[in-house]
Amino acid sequence: MTDRLKGRIALVTGASRGIGYQIAKQMAAEGAHVIALSRTVGGLEELDDEIKSAGGTATLVPLDLTDMAGIDRLGGAIKERWGKLDVMVANAGLLGVLSPIGHIEAKTFEQTMTVNVTATWRLIRSVDPLLRESDAGRALVMSSGAAHSAKAFWGLYAATKAACEAMVRSWANETMNLPLRVNAVNPGATRTRMRAIAMPGEDPKTLPTAREVAAKIVPLAFDDVTETGKIYDVREGRFLTYQNPS
Ligand code: NDP
Repeated sequence: MTDRLKGRIALVTGASRGIGYQIAKQMAAEGAHVIALSRTVGGLEELDDEIKSAGGTATLVPLDLTDMAGIDRLGGAIKERWGKLDVMVANAGLLGVLSPIGHIEAKTFEQTMTVNVTATWRLIRSVDPLLRESDAGRALVMSSGAAHSAKAFWGLYAATKAACEAMVRSWANETMNLPLRVNAVNPGATRTRMRAIAMPGEDPKTLPTAREVAAKIVPLAFDDVTETGKIYDVREGRFLTYQNPS
């Protein structure tokens, strides 16, 4: 580790397990003060213990992202305590259900849209003014190859990730002349609980671990990143440019 995030304030959602847990841990090891958010307190406490024993610091935020007023309050609390935010990683997400699009229960559709899309927008709205206060604001929104692959039965999840990418692209264009850099990330298939639910027949050992994947995502929050409005493909190890019809 190189202290590349020394003194930075970094908010990571979905930090209780999987990719978000590892991003939070590794950002703390790079010197960031991590604001770790999820519902499961046990996972956050385990993360806090690991961060502290490595000499880092974290603030735990047990919050259900369906609590939109809670997301607003979080922005207010960060403003009050630090006056700015340097890094936002909107990583929390749900798979929803793999199903023919016409068979999805309304409740499942709405819950998945709420966590993956509405809460991501609400978080962006809550912290955008704080990221603008940073001299090197970095926003990363977790997407998926599913957003573009049009795979049968993945329509709900794909729609949520495509929506996130659309928000990222517009937000990046709105902030292009600021130090703020806004990108989507496709982590690729990763050995986590979500992947095991999506692909129960797959041998998890064939997949990269969340730790390995997070190590490739963390540098996207460093000061020297210049790209904005793009998707970083972890497997390919590069930013992809969207085709902009104009
Ligand atoms: P996990 O299911 O392992 O972790 C999801 C995280 O999101 C957990 O920390 C969970 O915390 C949090 N979360 C879910 N719902 C809520 C909620 N209502 N409020 C607050 N937090 C919530 O997923 P992964 O680590 O695999 O995925 C991380 C991101 O990467 C997701 O956006 C996913 O779509 C994306 N991705 C993953 C891939 C993979 O192969 N794993 C591939 C492509 C993209 P808690 O339950 O404690 O609230």
